[in-house]
Amino acid sequence: MATSPRIAIIGGGPGGLMLARLLQVAGMPATVFERDPHAAHRPQGGSLDLHVETGQRALRLGGLEAAFHAHARPEDQGDRLYDPSGALLFDHAGDGFERPEIDRTALRTILLDSLDEGTVRWGTRVTEARPRPDGACEVITDGGAAAYDIVVGADGAGSRVRPLLSDAAPLYEGVVFVELGFEAQTHRFVDDLVGTGKMFAVGDNRALIAQRNGHGHIRGYAAWRTPEAQARTLVQQSAEQVRAAMLEVFDGWAPRLTDMTRQGTLLGVRMLSALPIGHSWTSRPGFTLLGDAAHLMSPFAGEGVNLALADAADLAEALASGQGWTAVAHAETVIAARAKVAAEGSAEGLRTAFSPDGAAPMLQHYRARIAG
Ligand SMILES: Cc1cc2nc3c(=O)[nH]c(=O)nc-3n(C[C@H](O)[C@H](O)[C@H](O)COP(=O)(O)OP(=O)(O)OC[C@H]3O[C@@H](n4cnc5c(N)ncnc54)[C@H](O)[C@@H]3O)c2cc1C
Repeated sequence: MATSPRIAIIGGGPGGLMLARLLQVAGMPATVFERDPHAAHRPQGGSLDLHVETGQRALRLGGLEAAFHAHARPEDQGDRLYDPSGALLFDHAGDGFERPEIDRTALRTILLDSLDEGTVRWGTRVTEARPRPDGACEVITDGGAAAYDIVVGADGAGSRVRPLLSDAAPLYEGVVFVELGFEAQTHRFVDDLVGTGKMFAVGDNRALIAQRNGHGHIRGYAAWRTPEAQARTLVQQSAEQVRAAMLEVFDGWAPRLTDMTRQGTLLGVRMLSALPIGHSWTSRPGFTLLGDAAHLMSPFAGEGVNLALADAADLAEALASGQGWTAVAHAETVIAARAKVAAEGSAEGLRTAFSPDGAAPMLQHYRARIAG
């Protein structure tokens, strides 16, 4: 690759944008295909904690450390645990952690602001990526087709690039999440419950969760184990039906907890799914994956975005190394190995939060973490 290769990145999430930034810094411009029509098209979701050795490292390499710290909220790393009666079992203010929170929207803005004009092709949905007989990689969008030398699937759970590399598909993990929005000013009871970061109220196989975001927003989740057919039904139901389902699931819990299900603004229903733990693929020159497209997992290890950013750093380094696809193939093994460890932690975290033993496993987990 003597001249700069033509690089297409499918997906303008944190992983895809980070890769575009790092390649730009290395003098290798890339094109990002993003299906959203523009940056403010949809709320980007809740708060993310970025870890020093993965997410923060990638931002450092991209020259974005100062921008990150300008938006980060180191004060919001606390944890609280309640049982269904509302008894506070654990309360930790989060001192000593080095994983500051940042709103997903702020992270996306930092990354977008760092890119050259025209890097992101908004409103462009990729329907397929495939090899061409002449050896190039073709990206097919709803607006046409174009040839590239390298195509990176950074397009999340439903990746259009992954099928070229692997037969694996995300599987439902048995837990459904109803997303709820609160304002600290108007929902004082949630503001009190959440403390200085996030709170879990945990019963048998169900949990109410709230997490402080920037600008006085608090994002909540009512989550419980349920069979796939019922979860699919819930996803399609009206707001009234979803609210009725939550009231039934959390019946008997303390009113100040169940008020979350009554008063929260319904933001959506999501079935948690994951790729098999240890997902990997045989390297295929021209096509690769990063982030959720490569290793979707439930959010219970708090690693997803950190892995996506770290993957971007590894791939950018490999692509800029001048060592051809061998370096990319090596990066892919690093990406898969790192994700395997996180996916094991994530699966364990899900079992801990949604256990037939109620809050006890979670309490044990918190105590071990603080003691450790
Ligand atoms: C409820 C919840 C809470 C979470 N909390 C945390 C947390 O606290 N910490 C953490 O580290 N992680 C967390 N995660 C995980 C984290 O959100 C993901 O791991 C991370 O967003 C992955 O980034 P990505 O860039 O790989 O993919 P994504 O963020 O999924 O971005 C993919 C992008 O590709 C675009 N796209 C998709 N298909 C196409 C297409 N065909 N054509 C063009 N564009 C396309 C999408 O619009 C999107 O912009 C959480 C996830 C959930 C669901």
